[in-house]
Order: sequence, then C-alpha cells, then structure tokens
Amino acid sequence: MSITRLVVLSCCIALSSLGIAGNNSVGTSLHKLDPIKVAPNTYYVQGMAEMGSVHNRNFISNAGFVITDGGVVVIDSLGSPVLAQALVAAIKNLTAQPIRKVIVTHYHADHIYGLQVFKALGAQIVAHAAGKLYLSSDVGAQRLASSRQTLAPWIDDSTRLVAADEWISGETTFTMGKVRFVIKPVGPAHTAEDIALFVPSTGVLFAGDLVFQARIPYVGNADSRGWIAALTALKGVAPKIIVPGHGPHSNHALQEIKFTSDYLAHLRAMMSPAALNLDPFDEAYAKADWTEYEGYPLFRAVNRMNAYNIYLSIQQEAQ
Ligand SMILES: [Zn+2]
Repeated sequence: MSITRLVVLSCCIALSSLGIAGNNSVGTSLHKLDPIKVAPNTYYVQGMAEMGSVHNRNFISNAGFVITDGGVVVIDSLGSPVLAQALVAAIKNLTAQPIRKVIVTHYHADHIYGLQVFKALGAQIVAHAAGKLYLSSDVGAQRLASSRQTLAPWIDDSTRLVAADEWISGETTFTMGKVRFVIKPVGPAHTAEDIALFVPSTGVLFAGDLVFQARIPYVGNADSRGWIAALTALKGVAPKIIVPGHGPHSNHALQEIKFTSDYLAHLRAMMSPAALNLDPFDEAYAKADWTEYEGYPLFRAVNRMNAYNIYLSIQQEAQ
C-alpha cells in the first residue's frame, strides 16, 4: 500500500469518526428525500455539507435523475441503501417510468453504497472501467468494513460493493426516450474513474466530484493536474446548469467550474515550493495564505488533508 493511499484511508476513517461524534438521535431522521428540479424532467437530491454520520445516514452527496419517455436515468446512488430506497420512492412519486440506468460518476463510498437497490430493480449500472480497481483493491473493502462500524445500521453486513454491468472507457452517447446523453470520462482527476454526464438538450452537466459547490472540495488521493485539465475540458461543452456531486446546483456552471479549478490551483501554488524543496509540510501549511477559502463549509475538516495530499502528489510528480 502506498503512503498516499494510507493517508487517504486513515483520513476517511478519521473523518467518519468525526461525523458521529456527539450524535444522540440515531434513526430519528426522516427517510423522505425532496428532489429539486433544475430543468424539464431533470432533478437531483442534495446531500448535506457534513461528513458521513449515523445521524445523516451518509447523506452527504447528491444524486440526480432525468425522466424520459423511455425510462429514467439516475446519476449516482447515494451513500447507503436506505437513502437509495428513499430516492427510488421520490422518483416513483414523479413518474411511472422504470429506472433503466444508473451512471456511477466514481467509486467513492458516498456515491455507491446505494447501488444494490437499483441493481435489484433491474437497472443497468454504468461506470468507467478504471473503477474496477476500487472493487478489486483493498481500499474499497477496507472502507466498507470501516463504514459497517461507523455507519451502522445504515451500512451493515448486507451492504455490498456492486460492479458495473457496462464498463466504458471512452466518450459514450446513448439515447433514452427522445433525450440524448453524453457520458464523458474526465479522469484521472478526483479519481481515476471519474465520469460526467451531459444532457445537450437542457445544458445540464452532472459533474460528479469534479466540481464542488459552496464548500471546500474533498481532494483525497486525486490527480490535481489531471483534475484541472478535466475542468478545462468540461468548460468546452458549454454547460448552462451544473449539478455537482456535493452542494447545490448552479445556473452559472462555468463560474462553479472556475471555483474548484481555482481552489486546486491555489493548493498547488501554496504547496509546490515546499514540496519540491523537501521543506516540512507543517511549516508550509502554517505559512500559506488560506484567507480566500477559510470561510467555506468543511474548510476545517478537509483543507489541511487536501493540502497534505497535494504536497505528496507534487513530490510524486517530480520523481
Ligand atoms: Zn463525493
């Protein structure tokens, strides 16, 4: 196991424990989700700007869906099977069309633990082929084992990792009903297997974790150079509305892409000199200017770890 992977893994575990600290109202959350409409037949549910916890049922990421005359396309499956069931119920409230496809933007726990619910309904799961590594490596298994401890009863022994039915590796288009969808591989960036889903007829871009809105991104074991390049490529499809993996949607898609891109560039600028000179991380972090970002949600929870991961990745790039 690489040092970076170890750091990321222990980060996830630490943050999960942080999320359940002080919780004393287990199971009192309502199981209903309220979809937000962003364009005709296009919706998402918005996770909370928190770390995953028993209290929030791991509802910390968004999931989207598009209703067509030929069925429903869902984007991501939320962070626990119970949330996925709530999402299915919310979709059924709006349409009698069956859920035919689930697009997995990337294999991170908060986006995939609901997949088994959609699989059981007969939906086809689509993901990027690089996601196979998450399923075969110890990272996914260890994260699931840890989540079974920290997120029980929402994540338990019956929660499992679900492989895609269709693994794509290049840009892929499909039409459902009369709606055309474009699946764009945009990794390696936030993860190796990132994909975004674009709907040209409405200009809606489901960006997965390539774009974080109104909160500090979770960088993790990312390829920050690749990520900035992917954001530049996404600008090229000229999206109007963006539904990010976390945080509210925005009708100013290009502005939101810029926020994430600027944050990554700032981390790189702050960490590069120290990383390349082999100066200690702690000193570089203390000296860095964070004034532009410290007011955003999750700054305290993730910024230091983000900076550390960037510091390590810049050293790896230089090798
Ligand atoms: Zn996420």
